[in-house]
Amino acid sequence: MALIVQKYGGTSVGDTEKIRNVAERVARVKDEGNDLVVVLSAMGGETDRLIKLAESATENDPDEREYDVLISTGEQVTISLLAMILKKMGYPTKSFLGSQVKILTDRIHKNARILKIDTELINGELKAGKIVVVAGFQGVDDNGNITTLGRGGSDTSAVALAAALKADYCENFTDVDGVYTTDPNVYDRARKLSRISYEEMLELASAGAKVLQHRSVELAKMYNVPIIVRSSFNDDRGTLVTMEDKDMERELVSGVTCDKDQAKISVIHVPDQPGVAERIFTPLSERNIIVDMIIQNASIEGYTDLTFTVSRKDMEEVKNILYEVVKEIGAERVDYDEKIAKVSVIGLGMKSHSGVASKMFAALAGEGINIMMISTSEIKISCAIRRKYTELAVQVLHDAFELDKEN
Ligand code: ADP
Ligand code: ASP
Ligand code: MG
Repeated sequence: MALIVQKYGGTSVGDTEKIRNVAERVARVKDEGNDLVVVLSAMGGETDRLIKLAESATENDPDEREYDVLISTGEQVTISLLAMILKKMGYPTKSFLGSQVKILTDRIHKNARILKIDTELINGELKAGKIVVVAGFQGVDDNGNITTLGRGGSDTSAVALAAALKADYCENFTDVDGVYTTDPNVYDRARKLSRISYEEMLELASAGAKVLQHRSVELAKMYNVPIIVRSSFNDDRGTLVTMEDKDMERELVSGVTCDKDQAKISVIHVPDQPGVAERIFTPLSERNIIVDMIIQNASIEGYTDLTFTVSRKDMEEVKNILYEVVKEIGAERVDYDEKIAKVSVIGLGMKSHSGVASKMFAALAGEGINIMMISTSEIKISCAIRRKYTELAVQVLHDAFELDKEN
């Protein structure tokens, strides 16, 4: 008997028929004698719909507290539906919101981080033989305000619950049957991986592979929670996301990924003095805004340009923050470019081999794709390019590193 946390994404709970399919899967696992906590997303497209409502009601300027109250409601619909279907099938079940479980987060609306999860309530229900269904994507802060965890946040709810409850593993059911060498919806030659290390998955997720939210992989790695990414529409074994072990092949490059939701920001003619970068980036990090690539030009006559990328959804907030900062630090102006994308290649083997960067640059150059910015980590190389070349870049890189072939 195991304690399993299962998470079902938006497509898997897209209508009542699909939720019945989820109920049958859940029932099967329960019948095998396991304890089960099920985390659900909202129906596919519902969170987008709610966001549009908030924007249209307020000329794109919704109050953050009320925004979270609204956009967290999609999950309340799916958890209650699943729980009532399971009860009708004869399985004692209870659904809970994040605030009822008490998934405590910080106070950063729209992008909160989980601080602590009370396990008492859930453990009590499990002991009483119940299936527990929890709303993903949401928590509550220390003042009792509803918070949300950022887009795709149900993945993180599930892993955080698995860690807090010391579950045996976390199954993540989605609309693809595992983690592939690249997004199978972008390139049909993508190949499914049977296993991938936390480290590689973390880089893939942070570089835009939304199959798992970045933060969920971070938590899984920290608490050593195995994640199995599977399809809710078939019984394929899926992909195991786990610790790197010596049997795991150190692929030179194991995946290519892209992120079209990027924006480039250039702060022009900044005085080249100590503390200036800190005054630009500290207010951004205080708002949990992730800054990705950063480039500072060579200084000319005491002035420099600072260019960086953020997620496009954070652009408005960045604009508001920089409006004041730019005046304070005496920069000339800020330029914004929303038509960029980031392509990245990832692989553990990069730690011990060279030549990946040059192969990547050559492949992009071969198609006439200009590289605007470059950033690297130990196992990842990312390039910012014009957004219109994204799919072409992914396909060319996938071919260049022969990722369709098992090595
Ligand atoms: P859910 O609603 O179940 O959370 P998401 O849409 O958030 O599902 O994530 C699944 C999607 O992730 C897939 O449909 C696929 O297009 C995309 N994806 C991106 N990169 C990859 C990858 N390397 N492997 C598998 N899927 C990927
Ligand atoms: N429903 C939320 C979203 O669309 C959370 C999730 O799907 O994980 O972002
Ligand atoms: Mg998702």
